[in-house]
Amino acid sequence: NLSDRITASLKGLRGHGRLTEADVDKTIREIRRALLDADVAVSVVREFTGRVRERALGEEVSKALNPAQQVVKIVHSELVEVLGGATGEFTWAKHPPTVIMLAGLQGAGKTTLAGKLAKWMKGQGHTPMLVAADLQRPNAVNQLQIVGERAGVPVFAPEPGNGVGNPVLVAMNGVSTAQFQQHDVVIVDTAGRLGIDEEMMQQAREIRDAVNPHETLFVVDAMIGQDAARVAEAFRDGVGFTGVVLSKLDGDARGGAALSITGVTERPILFASTGESLDDFERFHPDRMANRILDMGDVLTLIEQAEKAFDQKEAEKAAQKLASGEDFTLDDFLAQMQQLKNMGSIKKMLGMLPNMGQYREQLENFDESELGRVEAIIRSMTPAERQDPKLLNGSRRNRIAKGSGTTVQQVNQLMERFKQAQTMMRQMGRGMAGGGMPGMPG
Ligand code: GDP
Ligand code: MG
Repeated sequence: NLSDRITASLKGLRGHGRLTEADVDKTIREIRRALLDADVAVSVVREFTGRVRERALGEEVSKALNPAQQVVKIVHSELVEVLGGATGEFTWAKHPPTVIMLAGLQGAGKTTLAGKLAKWMKGQGHTPMLVAADLQRPNAVNQLQIVGERAGVPVFAPEPGNGVGNPVLVAMNGVSTAQFQQHDVVIVDTAGRLGIDEEMMQQAREIRDAVNPHETLFVVDAMIGQDAARVAEAFRDGVGFTGVVLSKLDGDARGGAALSITGVTERPILFASTGESLDDFERFHPDRMANRILDMGDVLTLIEQAEKAFDQKEAEKAAQKLASGEDFTLDDFLAQMQQLKNMGSIKKMLGMLPNMGQYREQLENFDESELGRVEAIIRSMTPAERQDPKLLNGSRRNRIAKGSGTTVQQVNQLMERFKQAQTMMRQMGRGMAGGGMPGMPG
């Protein structure tokens, strides 16, 4: 696992005070191997490690007090850089409609994305229309119609007079119809093939020239890893594109695709598709992807760490409690925090679990530096109060704040936080009762 390997290679650097060339090269070798394992294209790895090496050997590191921290910072900031730097901006046409064309291999997720984009834009007050210009597969038009219905947006489909059998005509008529009906966005879905072929590129070029898109989005399945570099180059040369959408990031794609594409095309990744539902869609954030690459979610690692940190009995008790739906108390909350502290970052741990997307917001509001304060507050409560937080009236909260060296407001905040955790635990408990969490007794 990449983060373990980088951590291991950096451990070797501690205690040196300053980096020597040999130190840096040793780390770079590890990082190179780790990136290759993460399925990043070789050419991208070479360029990436070259830049890191150059920076690491430069003055920044020679001045550093803590070389390991410095190297992590360099690796991270270079990753963000390669991934596009700041979050990419989507360009709207000055004179609507904004024409968006989707391109990519078959199965990349174009049709699904058409629905996601439309729903997202509709939510922002836009009035998108979808155009079914994939006439390659018998079912493609119908699939887009279903997606459009789900997103609640109209779909322009081939009919007699609309250019039956001719995707270029359909695309053209679709865009002019959207313009006529005053839609401010029109999203043109196109056909893909399983492999790159000249006929497909030719068709995509013809559609492009017919509709003159403001944005051509290259949609690519993140699971294909470094192959993404080759496919992206083919589409760049064959049709050209203005932005990238990474799909299927909900799978165990390790970031290799993201790094490989931006490394060779220098086009921003604008969106991430993270599931089959139309809401599984978000802006792509280079810094989050860099974190993911350095901190790769790995259920096995999580379980190993969890097994080390959790007292087996405690874990069993917790799992039983969760599964039985019995309420999660402040005592459990505190016990869990202490265990989690041993496991390092809570965010990191939760990030390793699959399907944690729904808790992301809660996670982001979770500030680990508050752990100490939380502990102090809970320790200042009586056992009865911990069992039954409803007892906590104003004067008790006042006493607890004084006892823990915090403010009543902070006590109130903790109680809010605890309520959220309780809800989350109940939800997780229900989830476990269904499928069971690998490695957890219960
Ligand atoms: P297209 O051939 O490029 O139009 O691809 P589709 O939109 O038809 O998607 C192909 C398959 O991938 C479908 O079964 C989709 O439900 C699925 N799919 C698309 N995007 C995602 C995603 O982000 N995550 C997951 N898990 N599946 C996806
Ligand atoms: Mg399709």
